[in-house]
Amino acid sequence: MSAVEPGYVALYRTGELERRAEALVARLSSCDICPRECGVNRLENEPGFCHSGRLPIVSTVCAHHGEEPVISGSQGSGTVFFGSCNMRCVYCQNHQISQNHKAQQSREVEPHILAERMLYLQDELGCHNINFVSPSHFVPQLVQAVLEAVPLGLRLPLVYNTSSYDSIKSLKELDGIISVYLADLRYASDKWGRKFSQVSDYVEYARAAIKEMYSQVGNLVVDDDGIVQRGLIVRHLILPNQLAGSQDSLTWLVQEISPEVTVSIMSQYFPAHRASRIPLLSRAISSAEYSEVIRLVDELGLEDGWIQEMGASKDYLPDFTCEDAPFSLKVSKL
Ligand code: SF4
Repeated sequence: MSAVEPGYVALYRTGELERRAEALVARLSSCDICPRECGVNRLENEPGFCHSGRLPIVSTVCAHHGEEPVISGSQGSGTVFFGSCNMRCVYCQNHQISQNHKAQQSREVEPHILAERMLYLQDELGCHNINFVSPSHFVPQLVQAVLEAVPLGLRLPLVYNTSSYDSIKSLKELDGIISVYLADLRYASDKWGRKFSQVSDYVEYARAAIKEMYSQVGNLVVDDDGIVQRGLIVRHLILPNQLAGSQDSLTWLVQEISPEVTVSIMSQYFPAHRASRIPLLSRAISSAEYSEVIRLVDELGLEDGWIQEMGASKDYLPDFTCEDAPFSLKVSKL
């Protein structure tokens, strides 16, 4: 358990957490929770782009041992995988739960059930944190569940594990609630975001979101056991054929965020889902593509973080038909 009381406990005591939950839930009536601003009434379960209604879809809850070492530690990260998504990545390794909305509707739960599952991760499994995966379309439900979980005893730091296609207005409501942002930086070109993830404005929104996250939590802070308590980690997945725009994205990160920002460079790309049928995405990255990004990291002076080794791409593929243990990999490769 964290020695430092997470900020959401103080927000609960002052009533601010309840105010934020109410304000966020009210926005579901004309949904602008993510940058798509669909305007549908999710309180009446009208479907927007994310096919998500009033209740959170909780696909899997488990202790995850394959995240970055400061997140997984020895006890695992208490991972809550939300179903459906506000993106449509053709290579999504979580496509069984992110792009299968009809099946996912059976996984809707009331916020108090989500709160109880968080307590299970904290008290029964002894996880180091609660790690919300793909939370961008469920920010109101996440805050509602935290509001229910605090009086039950929730005290773990909360990790917001996101594609970064997030609304600034929603992120501001998370200030003081989220301790750790684990944020993807996927593309440097809207051309590829549009073609491969059905997002026409990823670059602008993701960069603004990462700036907001950094302003809230700053550089990484770990405890005496090396477990993260607060901070931003930016994940960059290397894609084949330079589709991730690594040079542009990492240079932006150094210039606009900080050379001290913590990065997690990921080599695990595998042509999952529909990518095997798309020539530009139909293979793992090459050694030359990998080496080029490593050279860039060195040249830019990024010194804090992790780089995955080559050759582990299949090891990271989850299978969400194994509900309590979708990941076979137990140790993060550095
Ligand atoms: S959260 Fe869903 S419904 Fe709301 S704006 Fe985003 S995609 Fe649309």
